[in-house]
This record gives sequence, C-alpha cells and structure tokens, in this order.
Amino acid sequence: MTLSPSADINGSSSLATRQIHAGRAGAADAPTQATLPVPIYQSSAFEFPDHASAAAMFAQTQPGFTYSRTGNPTVAVLETRVADLEGGLAGLALGSGQSAVAAALLALVSTGPGKHLVVSEKIYGGTVDLLGDTLADLGVTVTYVDPADSAQWAQALTPQTRGFFLESIGNPLSTLADLDAIAQIAHDNGIPVVVDNTLATPVLYRPFEHGADIVVHSATKFLGGHGTALAGVIVDSGRFDWERESERWPQFTQARERFGHVSLVDKCRGGSPFLHLCRAKFVHDLGLTLSPFNASQIIQGLETLDLRVRRHTDSATQIARFLACHPAVRTVHHPAVEGSANQEIAQRDYPQGTGSVFAFELNCARDCVPAFVDSLRLFKLVANIGDVRSLIAHPAAMTHCRLNEEQRLAGGITWETLRLSVGLESLDDLIADLQSSLDELLRTGDAARIRQAQGAQEVSA
Ligand SMILES: *Cc1c(COP(=O)(O)O)cnc(C)c1O
Repeated sequence: MTLSPSADINGSSSLATRQIHAGRAGAADAPTQATLPVPIYQSSAFEFPDHASAAAMFAQTQPGFTYSRTGNPTVAVLETRVADLEGGLAGLALGSGQSAVAAALLALVSTGPGKHLVVSEKIYGGTVDLLGDTLADLGVTVTYVDPADSAQWAQALTPQTRGFFLESIGNPLSTLADLDAIAQIAHDNGIPVVVDNTLATPVLYRPFEHGADIVVHSATKFLGGHGTALAGVIVDSGRFDWERESERWPQFTQARERFGHVSLVDKCRGGSPFLHLCRAKFVHDLGLTLSPFNASQIIQGLETLDLRVRRHTDSATQIARFLACHPAVRTVHHPAVEGSANQEIAQRDYPQGTGSVFAFELNCARDCVPAFVDSLRLFKLVANIGDVRSLIAHPAAMTHCRLNEEQRLAGGITWETLRLSVGLESLDDLIADLQSSLDELLRTGDAARIRQAQGAQEVSA
C-alpha cells in the first residue's frame, strides 16, 4: 500500500479541482480495487513487511506508517490536501484546532530561553485560555497587540520573542490584520509568523501569499463544514530559515539524540523540520492524534469547500447589510457595512469577501437579549461556527462569560453583541427569521426601551 504524497491533479492549479483530488494517487493506493472516495484506514497499527523495515521505520531512516498515533494513510490525505490548498510545503493533522494551535506554538517556545510571543488581541477564546494559563504555567509570556496596527507589533518585540500569532479574520468581530506589514516586521527581526486561517479558509485568503510562515486551522469549522467532527491542521510554508540565527532555534539546529544525533534541519532537508518536531515530539508524546474516521469526515467536507464558502460569504454579506438597516440593530461588525473597521484591508486582500462569521449589537435594553435569541427559529443557539446550519451565539453569556465587563469591552464585546455563523439555508428564509425576531423586539413592550436606548432616533415599528 502506497499513498503517494504528491498530488495527481493533472497539472491543475484550480482550487475546485485540487480540493477533490490533491493527496490522492488514484488506483495506486488500494491493494484491491481503488475506491473513489478516500478509504478510512480504521487501523491502530500497520504490519511491517519484515524485521529490517520495522527497525528502519522506528529509526526514522525509512518513511512509512507504524502506529496511527503519529501517522495514518487516511489522515495523510487530509494533511497533503490542506497543505496543497494553502500553497504550503507539507501539513500535519491533529485531533482538534486547539491542539494544532498548541503544538505550533510549543514548537516555537518550548526549547531554549526564548519564551515570548506577540499575539493579536482579537483571537479565539480557547487560544487566550491556552496562552494565559497552560503556556503561562510553562513560562511563556505574551504581549497582546492590535492586529490592524503593525507599529504595535514592532514595539512589542524583545530578544526573547520567538513568534507572532494572529487570526487572518478575527473571531467574533471580523477583525482583519495587515499581514504583509506584520510579516515584514517579523522577518526583519528573524521571527516566524503563525496565522490561524480558520475563518477565512484558503478560498478567501491564503496567508502564505501575505508573508505567513506557518498556517493553522480548526478544520472543525469550514473545512469540514458540517459540524460533525473536530480536527486541526498545521501547514508549513517551508520558507522560514531556522539556520539564519541558529542559536535562537536549538530545537531545529542542534543535533538531538532522539532524532538520531542529527539536527532536524539536517534530517529534513527539502522537508519540514517544523512539522517533524510537531509530529515526532508533540503529537507522539502528548497524543494529539486525529482519528482516521474524523479525517474522512473533513476530507468529504473539503470536496465542496469553495462552493460552500462562496455561498456562506455571499449570504453573510447580504445579512450584514440587512441588519445594518434595521432600527433594532445598533452596530454591525462586518467589513461590507459602511463605517466598519478594516474596510481598506478587506478591499485590498479579500476580493471575494470576509466569510460568514460576524457580530452585531442589538439596539435594546439588556434584558431583551435572551428573548430575541430564543425567538429565532432557523438560527440555532450553538457554540460553533462553520456549519451548513446557521448558528448564533451570545458571547457575553457564553464564550466570553468568564471575562469581566471591562475585559469584554476592551475586546469590543458588549452585553448586546451577538455572533452569527451564516449557514447555507435560503437567504430569504434566514432574513425572514431575523426580521421577524427584530420586528418583534420593536412591537412588544420593549419598543419604548429600544427608543430610549436609541436616543432621539426615529423608530418605525
Ligand atoms: C474553533 C477554533 C479554534 C479551536 O478549534 P477546535 O477544533 O474547536 O479545537 C481555534 N481557532 C479558531 C479561530 C477557532 O474558531
């Protein structure tokens, strides 16, 4: 059984073709009849042809699958496919987006004295937990900066800094970053940039084309797209030069007993020392493994990625514009809405739109928020994004409930802020759902309080 890591895609550069075929060698990968969908190799371990092969694979002098904690043929297709779509050198799939972020950051700060990261202040709450608690316990320090203000990234650098981390589109306020400028600062100072591309997907934005060195994904969201499986992926561009300031990166440049008394850069010439460290050390030691079944769910989702993301994005843009015109809505955080932050970056870097996760604020008294959420029928109250179904979340009561009011407001989130992940249902039905609940807010006894909240503005109910 050989699954070719090289993509048999007949030279196509089209994402629509590659999302279906990359990482698959066709008939070569099945001992019997080749199956057309990627088979699920539901196996914990693999038989070695002979003793010599087993010894060579364990010594890591011969590639091959030994045990599914560190590699599995189904998972390998997902790794190659996401790396291909991002335009990277290689990929590593893990059990969740959280483990992908954790392993990528640990690879930068867990060896040597440099344990400082510069991080966007507008990021996913689970990443804030990781940085502020688990990595802090391990001695990692973080400076949070504004993703739209590249000067702050330069000011935050210290001799101990080992990485920049940001989300291409920030969750939940659709915050964008000037990645080209931030990457320039990082590279001038010998620092790699890690970008979480979960909300954008490679359909809307490819961070390697804007200077990123490493991309991470929660494949749980749009890559899988159907809300059925957790998964994460790390992709290496292969471009960061660990040897330029080699004393800074002993994990890659110094010979290690564990890796056969050679350094990872020597061991992985032409490949990815970064992903080798993530796989052979963190996935192996901590067991951050993706199951082959979940990998197959994500692979099936990827086959329709561009169709879904375009529809998600178009519907979200229309809904953002609808909300911006409704008197029961105070603010819409979406770059397509006049007066939003980041319109300039959106126009320059996101010609196809900025995805389907965004937030808006109700224009009402605070105790009206639960009734509004409960009155929606199509938008389901769920702590997830990137599903075919439309989802709503109330950050102040859910994802951000452990922050105090001051911390929440610093992150741009008020009690009345609601996050949407617009799904693939009919746009008319989705707007009708929101409209009836918003109109209800105006019609009921809350209208007076809405007028109050709105000040002198006219309300037409
Ligand atoms: C969901 C999410 C994660 C974490 O991924 P899981 O698959 O839930 O572990 C990381 N980053 C972003 C931007 C996310 O939305």
